[in-house]
Amino acid sequence: MIQALGASDGIAIGKAFVLPHWEWELPDQKIDVSDLAKEFERLYEGVRRSKNEIVRIKSELDEAVGVQESSIFDAHMAILDDPVFMNEIQGLIQRQYKAAEVAVKEAIDHFVTMFDLLDDEYMKERALDIKDVGNRLLKHLLGVPEIALPENTQPFILVVRELSPSQLIHMKPELVLGIATMIGSPTSHAAIMARAFGIPLVMGMEGKLDKSVATGDLLIVDGGAGVLHVEPDAETVTRYNEMRQRQLSDREQLLALARVPSVTPDGFSLTLAANISSLKELEAALGSGAEGVGLFRTEFLYMDRDHFPSEDEQFEVYRAAAIKLDGKPLIIRTLDIGGDKQLDYHEMPEEDNPFLGYRAIRFSLDRKDLFKIQLRALLRAAAYGDVQIMYPLIASVEEVREANAVLAEAQAELEAEGVRHRSDVPAGIMIEVPAAVAIADLLAEEAAFFSIGTNDLVQFTLAVDRMNEKINHLYEPFHPAVIRMLASVTEAAKRRGIPVSVCGELAGDVLALPIWLGLGIEELSLSAHAILPIKESMLRTRATDSRSVLEELLRCRTAMEVRERAANFHEKMAQRPVRLRPGVKSRQ
Ligand code: PEP
Ligand code: MG
Repeated sequence: MIQALGASDGIAIGKAFVLPHWEWELPDQKIDVSDLAKEFERLYEGVRRSKNEIVRIKSELDEAVGVQESSIFDAHMAILDDPVFMNEIQGLIQRQYKAAEVAVKEAIDHFVTMFDLLDDEYMKERALDIKDVGNRLLKHLLGVPEIALPENTQPFILVVRELSPSQLIHMKPELVLGIATMIGSPTSHAAIMARAFGIPLVMGMEGKLDKSVATGDLLIVDGGAGVLHVEPDAETVTRYNEMRQRQLSDREQLLALARVPSVTPDGFSLTLAANISSLKELEAALGSGAEGVGLFRTEFLYMDRDHFPSEDEQFEVYRAAAIKLDGKPLIIRTLDIGGDKQLDYHEMPEEDNPFLGYRAIRFSLDRKDLFKIQLRALLRAAAYGDVQIMYPLIASVEEVREANAVLAEAQAELEAEGVRHRSDVPAGIMIEVPAAVAIADLLAEEAAFFSIGTNDLVQFTLAVDRMNEKINHLYEPFHPAVIRMLASVTEAAKRRGIPVSVCGELAGDVLALPIWLGLGIEELSLSAHAILPIKESMLRTRATDSRSVLEELLRCRTAMEVRERAANFHEKMAQRPVRLRPGVKSRQ
């Protein structure tokens, strides 16, 4: 059993499919002059096998996994046909009598170092391609067994070194039973997406495996406990099968709550909306009883293609979401690219601190041409439902004003062109930077609403990179600093009379419920899978009790104290019966 980090709940039992990642160490063996021809023949045979394998993997991946990595594999093929790469290898064999595998390894190292030194993101990517395809060639020269992909339609457990959001977005979720990664952290966007798809995920196994996992090995992923079993015995499989069945039937029982109003037993309502990044996720969210969308992460619409989406392309998606929501609110966040979300087709500058860098609203205000295209699409879609706009990563009043000025321009253009749109679309902001918390009173005068993004707020408040698994234990949403910030933002919003919601992952943590009910937050926006467990808790938890618990939490000195007090309260509430239809009171 391997104990790593649990990143997405649920149990998966199935065969592994290991996405290859190779590193080789080779002895520097010289060959005899008389063996030159043989060595060249070995090289060409290795290239032939590698090419055949690439063709096969490309088609199988497309079909079985739905991973549209075709362009990567085309690039790999091109490297094997590249005379500069091949000449380097041939030269090492011919002139220095290196064995084919040694020549290949040296050529890879040569080009990778050269490209890496160029300090150019594109070339660095090419270096990765060379390493990847070079390793495939080495594998054939060394006679390592072929990679067997899973049966075309057989679901599998994906094992990868690191998972990127774009890898995940290209997969068919129904084929991926579970995922295990060597590195990565539960607050990364890839992990958020796995939770959205309901795919159990365990991360951070590096250094914890006593033997490597191979494609075809039987695995159990327990995403809740952060546990991975490799080739478990029959008794363990039976135990986990039973646990899985229990989880599924619990889930089914929760589904009965999907249409029950989200109201506390003492009659206070708290809207439960969904975080989505695609129309596909909207289906799941509505199935779980989402009362709207509190965060539509539009960046995945930009990542899922090879060009910036046009105004019409965006409009179609936003309009479809608005129509599907049938009058329920749809808060669409403008592009939050950068950090761990990159576009294949648009090179971003290399940065030492990408999360503190050229991203989100900073990118949009720098590229007003692209920003305006998105705003025009949003205003047009707003004619079909209750669409609202939200700006990410706001740190100053100027940013809100500048963004609103572009919005006004977009609106004036549509007006002048006679294009159907809505002109009074509310524009709110995300509160996810400590500076925004400090000036929340000023921002409340500029923004139509606040939505607290606890994922980034926690990382910036505690100076803990949300992507770094080494310091994951320091990423503590229940830190007293965070609790105080939540309280002061809410107070500023209420004083000004604007709505305030929470859309970070903390919103889906049942332990945090007394904070929201105690503060009188209007709305939580949650990953689809978190909606029903939170609703079930709400139906047992009185807002009045929550208020006194919150006062205690605000007096706690450590995160541990906050957690203990919140956990005690949660346990006490869990004993209470679920109250289905109390009368609704107005908010405090
Ligand atoms: C957040 O930061 O809390 C948030 C909801 O935005 P994202 O996770 O997309 O950065
Ligand atoms: Mg954020």
